[in-house]
Amino acid sequence: MSRPAFDDIYMELAVNLARRSHCIKRHVGAVLTKDTRIISIGYNGPPPGTHNCDEEWPEAGCPRDSKGGCSLAIHAEQNAILYAVKNKTSVEGATLYTTLSPCLACARIIFSMGIRRVIYYKSYAEHKGIASDEGVDFLVKFGVAVEKYAGQLANATQMI
Ligand SMILES: [Zn+2]
Ligand SMILES: [Zn+2]
Repeated sequence: MSRPAFDDIYMELAVNLARRSHCIKRHVGAVLTKDTRIISIGYNGPPPGTHNCDEEWPEAGCPRDSKGGCSLAIHAEQNAILYAVKNKTSVEGATLYTTLSPCLACARIIFSMGIRRVIYYKSYAEHKGIASDEGVDFLVKFGVAVEKYAGQLANATQMI
């Protein structure tokens, strides 16, 4: 067996975390690392102790926002950042692995928190047939290194 790169290990973990999401529509996972060590993880969903979308609305699905996403969920990237901050772990200079390209709201937070590198697995814009990912554009414009993950992971279907 070949020796896996950290990018592969952490993206695979992000994909596995996405599968834990209770949201019905979208499953997104995120891993925050610093100096190749994990400092936080997250997946999309309403705040702990509030709602489990799949159990509460098994048929109707999550209450949707104007873009069709879950209106109750905190995004995976924000959950990962919030957990780190809550536990007084600095995310300055960190790398973020996420299974879906960050939305603009997450991009603003990622930038503000000093995260320096973002690797995403699937492009939201590509999935939707939109010209570009506005979150990615924002990050690139303001100097954050953003890459689309080049590898292929076996269990990464049905995440978006
Ligand atoms: Zn939901
Ligand atoms: Zn977001």
